Amino acid sequence: MVLQVGEARDPSRDPAVVKKMAVLLMQGAVMLQETCPLDGLPLFRLRSGEIVCPVHGRVMIVSSEREARDVEVEEVLYEVMYRAALRLREEAEKGEPGRLREWVQVILGIEEILDMRRRRMREVDDKEKQEGQG
Ligand SMILES: [Zn+2]
Repeated sequence: MVLQVGEARDPSRDPAVVKKMAVLLMQGAVMLQETCPLDGLPLFRLRSGEIVCPVHGRVMIVSSEREARDVEVEEVLYEVMYRAALRLREEAEKGEPGRLREWVQVILGIEEILDMRRRRMREVDDKEKQEGQG
């Protein structure tokens, strides 16, 4: 495919994308300064707090390598919890209460870690806000 200068595909001119952005705004989403690194479209923050690209869906904004790894850690934790939940279902079907408790413990442990991490992140958030005001 040959593209002339100025003719490069601009997703913000795609009617489907424009429509998607309009729908997001109608749903109360907020357009952010940050743009999607893949297509340069503005990102939107949904009422749920999730950040989405009109084309790529849910994205994570990370400002540092450390933050990126943090997100990765969280994904691993969710993955392990999901697997534990699947095992829990297996054991429940077999009717072995002893094994059931083990998997419940795994899930509870991960929930606790996620909870602690969320609390820590909120604290960092609040601190940044206070610093911004002061
Ligand atoms: Zn995108």
